[in-house]
Amino acid sequence: MKEAIPGAISGTTDSPAHRADAYDRPAARFDGQGHIDVRASAAGSCRRALWYAATGHEPAPPGDEALTVMETGRALEPVVLRAMQRAGWEVAPADPDHPAPVTVQLTPEVTVTGHPDATGTPPLFGEEAVIEVKTRGPAAFKRWQTLGAERSHPDAVAQAALYTYGRFGEARDAVIAVLDTGDRAWDFETVPAERVEEAIERTRAWLAPLGDHFTANGPDPEVLPERDFEAGSWRCSSCPFLATCQPQAEEESTEDPTPEVSDEEAREAVTAYVAAREALREPEQAKRQALDTLKAWMRRKDSAKAELKGHAISLVRSTRYAVDHKRLNALLDAETRKEIVTEQTSESIRIT
Ligand code: SF4
Repeated sequence: MKEAIPGAISGTTDSPAHRADAYDRPAARFDGQGHIDVRASAAGSCRRALWYAATGHEPAPPGDEALTVMETGRALEPVVLRAMQRAGWEVAPADPDHPAPVTVQLTPEVTVTGHPDATGTPPLFGEEAVIEVKTRGPAAFKRWQTLGAERSHPDAVAQAALYTYGRFGEARDAVIAVLDTGDRAWDFETVPAERVEEAIERTRAWLAPLGDHFTANGPDPEVLPERDFEAGSWRCSSCPFLATCQPQAEEESTEDPTPEVSDEEAREAVTAYVAAREALREPEQAKRQALDTLKAWMRRKDSAKAELKGHAISLVRSTRYAVDHKRLNALLDAETRKEIVTEQTSESIRIT
């Protein structure tokens, strides 16, 4: 266990926090007591965006699709927590109508406030930990399992770390639980206490310049911190202040860079693909059947090599190695994992 963070302020369950305010309040605001208070889920956001939020610039409202994604995430949180309970976890979910807030004072000018989804204890034994619940599509779920939370969900790790300090006043293990919205599978990762502490330090280092900016300029909406991200980054393209911050980039982002393809050309491409696939289907089936016959024949003969009709036939055995990503993620910090688990992205079209 680590030392308590100075100035950590825990919330209480009888707080008058209203549900709407708890979940929908701005990403940052001034608390009237000399602090800029940042919402925990936004602690890793662009600092200029946080300044826009705190100084009352109007954010673009989320689109219908984004709202559906957000509402789906909220609606499924209890589902994940109940699944954990069935798996033997002792879970104490937040009261959905009066969630208990926690506030952590990161620097003299910066506080972070949020509402933990739940706390819980693992099956059999273990210390009570903060549980941060996320929902993701199948590809993002797989990515999280493979890369680990610190690489795939750094903001969620920071959030869980802040809640841990706010709730317990010290660094201890924190749990990220993720639901795959496609397969309805869930899994969890435990971020060890020392890496919870590192996440707090990273967040403190990230937000400290925002506090300095506040000290130097007061709550001036016109004096802006530097931009943290470039136009074209996903952070900017999903930023509710893009139009204010980079009006030109917003216009460009609405221009489609991909070449024009007519609907007719797309229909022809599907027809060509299906015809080619049909033409290949029978030969492929015949090939597979022949290979299955030969495999059974070689196994019966207990031989790995044979010659038939002038062809060399080999029974090739290969061994696959599986990586237990959960254990790997628990053992190695994010930087070390980055050297071992590398990421490659490719694009392809699937027609079914
Ligand atoms: S548009 Fe980009 S740089 Fe500007 S505030 Fe948003 S995230 Fe920051």
